[in-house]
Amino acid sequence: MVKLENMKNLSLSDSVINLDHGDPTAYEEYWRKIGDRCTVTIRGCDLMSYFSDVNNMCWFLEPELAEAIKELHAAVGNAATEDRYIVVGTGSTQLCQAAVHALSSLAGTQPVSVVAAAPYYSTYVEETTYVRSGMYKWEGDAWSFDKKGPYIELVTSPNNPDGTIRETVVNRPDGDEGKVIHDFAYYWPHYTPITRCQDHDIMLFTFSKITGHAGSRIGWALVKDKDVAKKMVEYIIVNSIGVSKESQVRTAKILKVLEETCKSETDNFFEYGHEMMKNRWEKLRGVVKESNVFTLPKYPEAYCNFFGKTLGSYPAFAWLGTKEETDLVNDLRRHRVMTRSGERCGSDKKHVRVSMLSREDVFNVFLERLGNMKLIKNIDL
Ligand code: PMP
Repeated sequence: MVKLENMKNLSLSDSVINLDHGDPTAYEEYWRKIGDRCTVTIRGCDLMSYFSDVNNMCWFLEPELAEAIKELHAAVGNAATEDRYIVVGTGSTQLCQAAVHALSSLAGTQPVSVVAAAPYYSTYVEETTYVRSGMYKWEGDAWSFDKKGPYIELVTSPNNPDGTIRETVVNRPDGDEGKVIHDFAYYWPHYTPITRCQDHDIMLFTFSKITGHAGSRIGWALVKDKDVAKKMVEYIIVNSIGVSKESQVRTAKILKVLEETCKSETDNFFEYGHEMMKNRWEKLRGVVKESNVFTLPKYPEAYCNFFGKTLGSYPAFAWLGTKEETDLVNDLRRHRVMTRSGERCGSDKKHVRVSMLSREDVFNVFLERLGNMKLIKNIDL
């Protein structure tokens, strides 16, 4: 029997819990303990200009944020920053749209097809359809994509929603027509072993899922090609004339503290995050095993260059399935658990995406309700 702690939270006992969004509140506890080390003071006269660094192509990027980003990647070893342009965005949500815009505007013919291998991050659909651009067109699942002409493949690794390590799946002999945007939102040591230093043309990262500071709305792109970077910057200028400086300064401060803790024995954030995620996954796997109704993907172990040992993967979302033909998102809703349907991710009704990054008490209530669903099934049988 799996032991579930903190289960007696009365305020939560009857409420609907929302694990549809990946709101990363799980890390609040850690940053509370860090206390004033991350506090930033901003006076009324500070940060008033639109400009941060007129000598940089991305003139709205705060130099201290650029520095902190480079130092963090160097400390973690997950991505190359040399000979690249850093483009800052209001979350990597804005940057993904900027990158799709940039690649499409530089393509010979339009609309450019945009694809991602299912199950994919459902927001890509909204990002590429909402404004009804004539420059690009969402074409859905990359596995079945066979349309001629230029295309952009979105590769998310580890993947949201199913946590798998991904590479491109559209392989054309006429390679020139295909461009790739690598979304590395979850390529950090608490979620997955860091097996190599990534070195792709366009790599997206988000502050939201590293430390949990989603509210700051900061993301960055590491871009090799100058013209692509320029077009991305143009897009952001038209869209929002830059990115909040308050957010950038706070992000720079927190990333610096994060980088310092990388070397620490006592308050290492990645160590903390890894232990928490591992613990949650073990509890969830325990409930799923006992239920005999649900399924979860298995992940191979790999040597993590950051931790210096062989480790498993503990993704930010659980890709929960059922062995029976059922509409799982509705089954869970009846048990007051909101999740994202597999259908929205280009998959089926038997799967849902469940956030693993909620506060601890919410996560425990989820486990309890999932365990009870198993009981109801058993009685039905
Ligand atoms: N890419 C992926 C794969 C994500 O899961 C998310 C957050 N859910 C984002 C991008 C966007 O992150 P943000 O806009 O908060 O930086």
